Amino acid sequence: KGGKNRYAYYSAGNDSGSIKQLDIENNMRQAVASECDEFIVFYQPVVDAVTRECVSCEALIRWNSKALGFMAPGEFIPLAEYLGLITSIGDFILEEACRQCKDWNEHGFPDFRININLSVVQLMQKDVVDNVKKILDRTGVNPHNIVLEITESFAINDMERVMNIVKGLRRLGPKIALDDFGTGYSSLNYIKQLPLDIIKVDKTFIDDIVDDDYAKAFVKLIVELSKTIGTKICVEGVESREQYEVLSQIGVDYIQGYYFGKPVPVGEFAHRNLRRDAQ
Ligand code: C2E
Ligand code: CA
Ligand code: CA
Ligand code: CA
Repeated sequence: KGGKNRYAYYSAGNDSGSIKQLDIENNMRQAVASECDEFIVFYQPVVDAVTRECVSCEALIRWNSKALGFMAPGEFIPLAEYLGLITSIGDFILEEACRQCKDWNEHGFPDFRININLSVVQLMQKDVVDNVKKILDRTGVNPHNIVLEITESFAINDMERVMNIVKGLRRLGPKIALDDFGTGYSSLNYIKQLPLDIIKVDKTFIDDIVDDDYAKAFVKLIVELSKTIGTKICVEGVESREQYEVLSQIGVDYIQGYYFGKPVPVGEFAHRNLRRDAQ
């Protein structure tokens, strides 16, 4: 249940925890084998900090398991990574989100973008660039409207390899966002070396942005730095008007968080955020 950047250990013991894991494992294998039809993509708005217009969204997976009920990604993504199922699940999301983006782009929102999370495990597959290219080609989406979100833990391995993969992905057209910025081990090293378009500042810095001078100084610093290196700054986890006001004052570019909308199913997302009369 650890969520991102955490590792889970599976013991062979017959305690209820490992039985539950086994149950999830079996059900997940089945769900992947039956064309991922139990997985659903939710979308959360990302707004322009100045205009408050919804310019993009993040695709976030949910698993509506017949056997286990509704599962949040924190409950199954780490296991999917461990079992090697994340690549199939990831391909499914990428394809689904690319088709959705193309559809919105062709129906009144030509510049609207979708952000898609790529797991570290997916990124380290040796054919990841070819694989992403195939999906972009097959769906016919404008690749410039796709944003691939990668996390810092990705680069702990081998910086040169990481550089080549990220450059390869970026050459295909998508923008690259560094996710969860500030939570990893080598943040500054990363943004110096990787070709990034967007830096997403982690929610932990936003939670007490209103009262905490350190958090405020951190976001100010990264906004300053982003101007020098030519990236955009997106902040995650904005839940209140006060937070929004502080952050727009600091000069961040994009805002994501419950204050502007939770992740919701596609129909509800479009209804709330992509109004025909706003064309
Ligand atoms: P993330 O990429 O950092 O995504 C942001 C998470 O923060 C989402 O949780 C979102 O619902 C939540 N969030 C956004 N705004 C707020 C807010 O204002 N308040 C609070 N409390 N939470 C907010 P979610 O959907 O549960 O996803 C959790 C993580 O699971 C994601 O973190 C990401 O690492 C992973 N994940 C989700 N979908 C995918 C996917 O399709 N592929 C991969 N590889 N990982 C995914
Ligand atoms: Ca993300
Ligand atoms: Ca994040
Ligand atoms: Ca986060």
